[in-house]
Amino acid sequence: MSDLILELKDLSHSYDGKEISLNNITLTVNKAERVSILGPSGSGKSTLLRLIAGLEKPYSGTIAIQGKIVSSVNQMVAPEKRNVGLVVQEKALFPHLTVQKNIGFGIRKNQDRSKIISDLLNLFKIEHLSNKYPHEISGGEQQRAALARSMAPDPELLMLDEPFSALDKKLKEELYAELNQIFKEREQTIVLVTHDLDEAKVLSEKQVNLENT
Ligand code: ADP
Ligand code: MG
Repeated sequence: MSDLILELKDLSHSYDGKEISLNNITLTVNKAERVSILGPSGSGKSTLLRLIAGLEKPYSGTIAIQGKIVSSVNQMVAPEKRNVGLVVQEKALFPHLTVQKNIGFGIRKNQDRSKIISDLLNLFKIEHLSNKYPHEISGGEQQRAALARSMAPDPELLMLDEPFSALDKKLKEELYAELNQIFKEREQTIVLVTHDLDEAKVLSEKQVNLENT
């Protein structure tokens, strides 16, 4: 088996069938690789992640995950069947669920739910927050909980859409160091969207600029 997790071929998207929001992207991401997508506001970064997640259908091109085509002009695999996770900048948690229940939300029935939850609470250093609701914890803690939730179903590919932009510099730097360790340890394959080149360099070994593709 190859180590190829994600393969985009000549991928383009248009929201209205006319204007192109994302133009002809070709990219491969291997197991445990961490890739950043850079580009100014409006360059199509979020659109790219929405396409990979299966929330948008491509205008042209294909997306394969673990060697299987999941998106093309005439074929769409449902988002929940892609084995991918997506973390967005804000409102990433369900407001009516505690941290613990948020993390447990996407765990499949046949898995060891309480162990997965306690491991992630521990990994993200939020054990003490497990019974709190999102509005009772800080922005940095909310993003830790959102990252934990996204990793709970053990996605083959984890996508992060500018998840740190609301955090201050000190919090970000703390989180970067921890995340690098967590992602390495778990061999987590990552596609990170950011407009911050420094962040991209700290968190990923490969950077793709949407303006230059
Ligand atoms: P980025 O995340 O890089 O800021 P986006 O992927 O959000 O860029 O947007 C790329 C382009 O697609 C922009 O021109 C934006 O206006 C347009 N766009 C994004 N979402 C929609 C939508 N739901 N409907 C119509 N146009 C959209
Ligand atoms: Mg965006």
